[in-house]
Amino acid sequence: MRYHSHIVTSLLLGATAAAQTPLSFTVSYTAGIVVGSLIPDIDEPTSYIGRRSFGVSNKVKEAFGHRGMTHSLVMWGIIALVISWESSSLFAVGFALGYLFHILEDFFSVQGVPLFWPFISKRFKIPLYRTGNIVEKALFYAALVLLIYLGIKEQLFSEWWRSLALFW
Ligand SMILES: [Zn+2]
Repeated sequence: MRYHSHIVTSLLLGATAAAQTPLSFTVSYTAGIVVGSLIPDIDEPTSYIGRRSFGVSNKVKEAFGHRGMTHSLVMWGIIALVISWESSSLFAVGFALGYLFHILEDFFSVQGVPLFWPFISKRFKIPLYRTGNIVEKALFYAALVLLIYLGIKEQLFSEWWRSLALFW
């Protein structure tokens, strides 16, 4: 999945979570989701985040390959645990959720993800789309429309704007 598809689908999932739970749809929360939804592709030097990683990306890919370590639920669990020790901010919550959503989104690609690396190296998947194909584009636009709909219906956007005002 391309980075913009990861961002929009993750924001939609994050908005759904905010609508169903006491989580607030704030600037920090959404910023956390966006960053968290991009980080797992640090293992691919040609990805949006990889091209901005100052070489870190090449090292990770050399060591573990693309969609290896960083796309594992085990890795996610460790990262989420460390983050929750360090911070309980909405950014931290958004980051952990965004990272998890990324793994979930790649799970629906034909390439799949090694969910239980390093214990099981098999890639798991429900193959719905191939990166950049028409199905991914359709998912992107569907998620965008749903995000706008949910944002208005659940008054998430007004909550977001209010948090932006507090932010400054
Ligand atoms: Zn990925």
